[in-house]
Amino acid sequence: MTELFDICGIPAFLEPWINRFYTPLEIDLLTNLNGKAMTAAEARQALGPESSDSLLERAWRRGVVRRLDDGRVTPADFHVRFESWALSIVKEANRQGLMQGAELAVDSQGRLDGALCNCCNDCCFPHQLARILEVEKFWPLSRYLAQLSPEPCNGCGRCIRRCPFDAITQAKKKKGMPPSTPVIEANLCRGCGVCATGCPQEAICMQKIRASELETYYA
Ligand code: SF4
Ligand code: SF4
Repeated sequence: MTELFDICGIPAFLEPWINRFYTPLEIDLLTNLNGKAMTAAEARQALGPESSDSLLERAWRRGVVRRLDDGRVTPADFHVRFESWALSIVKEANRQGLMQGAELAVDSQGRLDGALCNCCNDCCFPHQLARILEVEKFWPLSRYLAQLSPEPCNGCGRCIRRCPFDAITQAKKKKGMPPSTPVIEANLCRGCGVCATGCPQEAICMQKIRASELETYYA
């Protein structure tokens, strides 16, 4: 494992996360690839009798490796890096209005556990499906609720356009009057935070209304 961490530049405190998401054979595969590319036959030979075509196929489908044009496999980019470019990805995701979800916690030994997802609202299917099936109250449960402060809000309406769940409304503007403050419908808000990250006035904050399962587990 230490070897893999050195090869991929993964911080050691992410070990629990790696163990949970990568199978032992996938870890072996990445270690053997050592940042380079191999043909399927070379990879099978390096991994020994337990390896198979289906292992490579599965590793590719899970984003552990990627395939080059000539058919060789090479490690896929490892996305969990706490470096400045990772922070810039998170900021860009915020700017683009992607729905971010985090299930991060620190375990009893001070190690980071969980994952961060920069999910787009097109593919964040559980929330969309819950809405279609009208089961939002059952699953997935939202952990945050958007709260709007009228004072800094200038009524620009950006939050309304960004909300993927049509949870924000605004009274029609009256001639000669400033735009009214939008209203967030708590029953429709899924706590995605897209409105808050896009508000130029920082008028929306996310109120935590439910602990994550991990937080409850480690409490
Ligand atoms: S984006 Fe911010 S400033 Fe604009 S209407 Fe929404 S809360 Fe108000
Ligand atoms: S946090 Fe709520 S109100 Fe804000 S964009 Fe998401 S669903 Fe809409």
